[in-house]
Amino acid sequence: MLKKLVNECKFKLQIKTEGPLLVKSGYATAHGPDMSPVLTYRNGQEQVFIPGSSLKGVFRSHIEKVIRSVNEELVCLPYEKPNFVNENNRLICPNYSRAFCGNRFELRKKNTVQDDKRNKWKLLNSDLEDKDGNRKDINPIVYHDSCPVCRLFGSTFFIGRISVGDAYLTLTTPPDVKRYVETRDGVGIDRFSGGAAQGALFNLLVVSAGTSFQTDILLRNFEIWQLGAVMLILQDMEDELIRVGSGRSRGLGHIKGAVNQVDIQYLKMNIAGKKADEIWGLGKFLNGDDSYGTRHDDSLMLANAPPEKQKGIRTIQEFTGEALNDLKIRAMNRFVETIPAWSVPKTMCFSNLQFEPEA
Ligand SMILES: [Zn+2]
Repeated sequence: MLKKLVNECKFKLQIKTEGPLLVKSGYATAHGPDMSPVLTYRNGQEQVFIPGSSLKGVFRSHIEKVIRSVNEELVCLPYEKPNFVNENNRLICPNYSRAFCGNRFELRKKNTVQDDKRNKWKLLNSDLEDKDGNRKDINPIVYHDSCPVCRLFGSTFFIGRISVGDAYLTLTTPPDVKRYVETRDGVGIDRFSGGAAQGALFNLLVVSAGTSFQTDILLRNFEIWQLGAVMLILQDMEDELIRVGSGRSRGLGHIKGAVNQVDIQYLKMNIAGKKADEIWGLGKFLNGDDSYGTRHDDSLMLANAPPEKQKGIRTIQEFTGEALNDLKIRAMNRFVETIPAWSVPKTMCFSNLQFEPEA
């Protein structure tokens, strides 16, 4: 089901720097390694840009924080690996509930694990692997069991629902990089004294305040609460609550976001019976199939809906102004009611797994 396209939402995001911004290039340059912004060639000119991967990372950690503040247990930690400990010949894993969803799926798929004393244990109830060695369709299970953040941003077992494009300078800004980059003095901090380290003054090349970028965010095969999650992230960007790039603790990366248009589209043949004042989420297209863990009535009624436009095989609605505001509030409300009602599936808990020591 998730292989075909059911719905798609495109956000046009504007980003304006409200202070100096540094998205590090990661390459050594004449200005010193790691201290200059990423550059690309566009329209024959060298330009600064904000990589979509950096924005996506910032979005992910922001929504992680929001969901964790509702329920700490619901969100995995992307870098946490399960830590298996042999305690009196019993296998335990104290950090299993925090481990990255991808690592937990990996364990459910494979047969053996090793504890801290290098003893091997066999997993007796592996449920992501077919006993006959046949390929099993694990997509619904992985989607169903993923934490809310992995359901949206993906893991090593699932590609995720959101993609964020690179943010380029807006077309109204002349493509002369020199105008958007300035040098700042940075002071190296001594790790022990907390004061300025001797000789550690360095030049920092940053994107100046007042620089405008734009990019597209795409959300495909989304549930309504996921639309709400993205709306919430973008609202917090608009409210200047999200910082981007390096040196955030030193006051860099202050930006302001703005979304003036959101387009939602479907394939015409998939939405027989949908009214113009409804948004259909993924669950609505699954016709009562519970295997993905979506809700049957995954749709949203709008008070202020734009007309449906037909373009070839697609039906598109363009939300701006009041209609966008109405959509934003209703979708965010769905997020706000969904997260507190979420529970961690048993299959993602260590107590569900059965092991025996391998001979
Ligand atoms: Zn996760």
